[in-house]
Amino acid sequence: MSNPLRIAVVAGNGIGPEITAATQRVLEATGLAFDWVPVLVGDEAVAEHGHPLPQLSVRQLQEIGLALKGPLIVEKLKGRVICTHADGSEHVYPSLNNALRRELQLFVNPRPLRGMGALSGKWAELDIVIMREVTEDVYAGLERMVDADRAEAIKLTTRAAVRRVARYSFEFARKNGRRRVTCAHKANVLGLTDGMFLECCREVAAEFPEIAFDDCMIDAAAYALVKTPQRFDVIVTSNQYGDILSDLGAGLVGSLGLAPGANIGEAGAMFEASHGAAPDIAGKGIANPIALILSGALLLRHAGALAEAERVEAAVRSVVIERKILTPDLGGQASTEALTAAICARIKGASA
Ligand code: ATP
Repeated sequence: MSNPLRIAVVAGNGIGPEITAATQRVLEATGLAFDWVPVLVGDEAVAEHGHPLPQLSVRQLQEIGLALKGPLIVEKLKGRVICTHADGSEHVYPSLNNALRRELQLFVNPRPLRGMGALSGKWAELDIVIMREVTEDVYAGLERMVDADRAEAIKLTTRAAVRRVARYSFEFARKNGRRRVTCAHKANVLGLTDGMFLECCREVAAEFPEIAFDDCMIDAAAYALVKTPQRFDVIVTSNQYGDILSDLGAGLVGSLGLAPGANIGEAGAMFEASHGAAPDIAGKGIANPIALILSGALLLRHAGALAEAERVEAAVRSVVIERKILTPDLGGQASTEALTAAICARIKGASA
C-alpha cells in the first residue's frame, strides 16, 4: 500500500493510552505507513468540549471509517451518556462504550478466542469467535426507576437486528472456512425476546446449508465453554450474554490481556480489546498490550493488509509461546515496554 492508512485513534483512559501507543508502534513495525488522527472521547473530550462524546468526534470517526480504540473507564452507577443530534433528538446510552458503538452504527462485536500454546493449558488449540450483537438487549439504555424501590430495564430485541448479526455470523463462517454457528440464548425462559433471537438465527441458518447450525442455552453454553469448548466454532449471541461469555473465554485462553475485539458496521469499523480500562494497574507500565495489538491485526486484515496482519499475529504468538517476556497477568515480570519491543523486534525479523 503506498498511501498511508488513515486511522482514527481514541486513546481511552486507564491503561488505554499505554496500550494504544504500544499498538501503534507494533503496527508501524510492519513497515506500513499510517496517518494517525487523534479523536477526543472521554475525559479529554469533556475537558475540551464539555461532553464525553461530542458530535464533532462522532463525525470525525464516521468520516475516517477505521478506528483503533483504547478502553474507556465506565464508572459504576454513573456510566449513562446522553447524545444530542443536530435535529435536537436526544439518545440515551448506558455507557460511553455503548454510545460510541451506537452513534457509529456498529452492530456486531466479533471477539475471537484463540489458544496461545502452553499459556492456555488444555486449550492451546482453542479457536472460537463470539459474535456479540451490540445495538440492543438489556444494554439498549431503556432502564428507569418505577418508584423509589423498584427499577426496571427493557430487553429490546428486534428481528432486523438479530437477522443482521446472524447473517454477519454465517457470512463470516463461510468466508473463513468455519463449519458451525451456535446461537446462545435463554429462549426457554425469555420466550418472546430470546425466542425471537433464536427464531431469526434459525431462519438465516436456512440460507447457509453448508454451515451447521445449532443452539445452546446460555447457562449450558457457559458450562460447555469451560468443559468442552472445542464443541463451539462461531457463537452468535445477544449483547449481555456475549459480554459475559467473552470474558469467560478470555479466562480460558489465559488472560483478558490476550482477548482482541472488533466492532463492525455497514460503513465503518472500530477495533478494541475485549477488556476494560484496568484502572488498578494504570500508569504502572505493566499492562498487557497484546489484546489491543491483536485488535490492531484485525484492523489491518479489515483494511486488506493481510500479510502485515499475519506478521503481527505470528510475532505475538511466537513471543507469547516462548514465555520469556511476559507481563504479570501472564505470570511474567516484563513491562508493557519490554513486551512491545520484543514483538516489534520479532516483526522486523530480529531476535528479541
Ligand atoms: P469493564 O467493566 O470496562 O470491563 P472492569 O474493571 O470490570 O472494566 P477490566 O478493566 O477489564 O474490567 O479489568 C478486570 C481485571 O483484569 C483487572 O484486575 C485488570 O487489572 C485486569 N486486566 C484487564 N485488562 C488487562 C490487561 N490488558 N493487562 C493486564 N491486566 C488486565
